[in-house]
Amino acid sequence: MRIDDKLAAQLKELGVELKPGVSLAEATSLGIGGTTDEILLRRYESIPEVIHLLADAGIKHRFLGGGSNVLVTDGELPFVVLHLPTTQPGMRVEGNAAYVDASADLGGTVTFCAKHDLGGMEGLIGVPGSIGGALRMNAGAYGTQIGPHVREVELYRAATGQIETLRGDEIRFDYRHTSFAPEDIMLRVKLELPSKPFKEILAGIKICNEKRRSSQPLNQKSAGCIFKNPQGGSAGRMIDDLGLKGHRVGDAMVSDRHANFFVNTDKASSADMLKLIEDVREKVQSAYGVELHNEVIVWQN
Ligand SMILES: Cc1cc2nc3c(=O)[nH]c(=O)nc-3n(C[C@H](O)[C@H](O)[C@H](O)COP(=O)(O)OP(=O)(O)OC[C@H]3O[C@@H](n4cnc5c(N)ncnc54)[C@H](O)[C@@H]3O)c2cc1C
Repeated sequence: MRIDDKLAAQLKELGVELKPGVSLAEATSLGIGGTTDEILLRRYESIPEVIHLLADAGIKHRFLGGGSNVLVTDGELPFVVLHLPTTQPGMRVEGNAAYVDASADLGGTVTFCAKHDLGGMEGLIGVPGSIGGALRMNAGAYGTQIGPHVREVELYRAATGQIETLRGDEIRFDYRHTSFAPEDIMLRVKLELPSKPFKEILAGIKICNEKRRSSQPLNQKSAGCIFKNPQGGSAGRMIDDLGLKGHRVGDAMVSDRHANFFVNTDKASSADMLKLIEDVREKVQSAYGVELHNEVIVWQN
C-alpha cells in the first residue's frame, strides 16, 4: 500500500516520519512478508489524527511491534504499517513501579528492572519483541506472564478515538489473549514488581536462558510457538508424537528442536508457511480430535 503525496504531506505536518516500501521480511523474526509504507508515530498526541486521516483515505493499517509474532503475506501489502520509535524508549522506576514505553524491548525491560532490584519477570527474559507486543499477547514463559504485573496502560483506544489510560483491572489478560481491541495501540505501561535482590533475579534469568537455549531453535528464523497449547495439553508434544519434526513445505519446516516452532530455513514464502500450518493442524485434528489455534498472528489482508 502506497501513501500518495497529498496524504504524505498531511501526515508529515503531524510529526510523522514516513518510510516508503519497507520490507516486512526484514522487520519480522520469521523473515517472511511483502512491502508497504511504514508510518513512524513520533508524537503520541497526533495518533488520533493520523488514524483519522488514514480512515478518511480508505487506507487500512496494522501495528508492528518487534515483529516476533507475526506471519505476513508476500507481495505489495494491502495495508500500511504503524510503528513507534524504538530509539531510547522511556523507562524509569519509582519504588516498586516501572514506567515503560511500549516500544521498549521486553528483555531490556526485565534487565533494567532487575538492576533496580525489581523481579518477577525473570521467565520473560528470552521472549523477543516489545513491551507493546507483550501486552497485546500477554506474553508468558516458565510460569510468568506480563498481565499480572500490569497496573496501568496508556493507549490509543479505537473505541473512542482518544488516548486514554486503563487501569490493570479494566483489562483481561488470558492465555496469549487480552481484551484490548484489535486497533488499540499501547503506548506506555506501569508495571508493579516485587522487590528482589539483583543477584537472585540474575540467577533466575540464567536458568530461563539455559532452558530456552537447550530446547528452542534460537539461531533460526521463527515466530516462537505457532500454536497455542490446547487446554491441559502441549501442542509441541502432540506434533512431535506424530513424527512431524522436520516436516516441510518448501523452505518452511517444523523445527527439529521444538515441534511447535516452525522455521524459515531459507526463502520460505508466506504460502509455504501457511500450508505447513494447515497441514499440521489437520494432522493433529485427525489424530487427536483437537483443533489447534494459532498463537502466531497472520496478516493477510
Ligand atoms: C524465538 C522466539 C521465542 C518466543 N518465545 C515466546 C515465549 O516464550 N512466550 C511468548 O509469549 N511468546 C514468545 N514468542 C512470541 C513473541 O516474541 C511474543 O508474542 C512477543 O510478545 C511479541 O512482541 P512483538 O513486539 O514482537 O509483537 P509483534 O510481533 O510486532 O506483534 C504481535 C501482535 O501484537 C500487536 N502489537 C505489537 N505492539 C503493539 C502495540 N504497541 N500496541 C498494540 N498492538 C501491538 C501487533 O499488532 C500484533 O497483533 C517468541 C518468539 C520467538 C521468535
